[in-house]
Amino acid sequence: LARNPGEDEFHQAVMEVLESLGPVLDQHPEYADGAVLERLCEPERQIMFRVPWTDDEGRVQVNRGYRVEFSSALGPYKGGLRFDPSVDLGIVKFLGFEQTFKNALTGLQMGAGKGGADFDPKGRSDAEVMRFCQSFMTELYRHIGEQTDVPAGDIGVGQREIGYLFGQYKRITNRYESGVITGKGLDWGGSEARTEATGYGLVIFTAEMLKADGDSLEGKRVVVSGSGNVAVYAIEKVQQLGGTVVACSDSSGYVVDEKGIDVEVLKQVKQVRRERIEAYVDARGGDARFVADRPVWEVPCDIALPCATQNELDVDGARSLVENGCQLVAEGANMPTTPEAFDVLAEAGVRFAPGKAANAGGVATSGLEMQQNASFEAWTFHDTEQRLTEIMRGIHERCLTAAEDHGSPGDYVVGANIAGFVTVADTMLALGVV
Ligand code: NDP
Repeated sequence: LARNPGEDEFHQAVMEVLESLGPVLDQHPEYADGAVLERLCEPERQIMFRVPWTDDEGRVQVNRGYRVEFSSALGPYKGGLRFDPSVDLGIVKFLGFEQTFKNALTGLQMGAGKGGADFDPKGRSDAEVMRFCQSFMTELYRHIGEQTDVPAGDIGVGQREIGYLFGQYKRITNRYESGVITGKGLDWGGSEARTEATGYGLVIFTAEMLKADGDSLEGKRVVVSGSGNVAVYAIEKVQQLGGTVVACSDSSGYVVDEKGIDVEVLKQVKQVRRERIEAYVDARGGDARFVADRPVWEVPCDIALPCATQNELDVDGARSLVENGCQLVAEGANMPTTPEAFDVLAEAGVRFAPGKAANAGGVATSGLEMQQNASFEAWTFHDTEQRLTEIMRGIHERCLTAAEDHGSPGDYVVGANIAGFVTVADTMLALGVV
């Protein structure tokens, strides 16, 4: 704590992992001898930089940019960039730390990193976003490369931003290095199914959890928080698999649509028109309604999928879910459940999937995008989704096996933390003290 003051989210993420590792540390003294945990908590490199840019009124603005390169044990640093006013070093470090275990769980050769800036793209023109991205990349380009560090999107960074970032990288380096960034458009090196991958993967993982209990998504009432990239495609996949998503949200409130959220209408409102969630009600018509400034967790459901941001599901939200009979929570966002909320869910016997396992489909498909870039191939949507499905099933299996082997059968939190940790820890020992 004293070493990293003020980094609350980072401390929270580290504590959650450490709480799971007792049995594995007891069995393997070599991890303590090699200071594996100490090394894992200290990023390999932390970069902070000034991002000056000019707004549409001609005023010079200054933001702070970050890239934290956490671990390159398993491959090049890999993880997204977040543009949001809340971004600070503690947030970037918690995300990078989580990414280390998540990437290990995918079974692909990816190290971990995370970055971003305290820039708010909301309300900014395309030209302002472009100038910001160009300035950001003017520093970042010297730290990244397809074999070094491969950024992607996250909150506030979608295909538009990835395009501006990649364009500037290409211009500065004079290299069409497709594998340097993922989440690209299909015409310029992107992968089919990458946009859908995190949301789809989350629901594939959820379906596997239900299947392990002899159940399925058919007929289930589902609530999703957020209405960004992860949320939209989680909603789409739930509905493909026979469930009904009755509510989703953004930071202004939530909409309820008992007939089931119409994904095409939602995409129009959020992705094309970039409006607030309230606009869904008029666009959809019928009985859909908007509730301002309230948490979506008060809507009764069988399954809850938090897909917005960290610590969005608090104790009150967890109590509402439990009182309304929710049986399963799977995290689409990174660390959306507070530790206290997790305790409420656990005590009530709600099945729980942590983000580092359940939302790993996004980075896994980024890994597939890198494979396609390296081989100059472009796989079909069907092929890519098939591989995503296999990867998610593999992660599910790995979590269950690790949990079973370490005395916590059916505990996905313990399973994900141990399975991810052992992979990275063994590799670190093999590579020596580096
Ligand atoms: P987006 O920027 O596309 O969407 C974020 C959504 O969350 C927006 O609808 C936003 O609403 C909403 N939101 C933010 N804060 C709150 C809040 N306090 N209450 C309710 N809604 C809120 O981001 P992504 O969908 O890409 O990312 C969402 C989460 O998933 C993050 O935790 C991210 O780290 C994680 N993730 C993303 C991956 C990806 O591939 N994109 C991969 C793995 C994890 P508003 O517009 O009002 O801000």
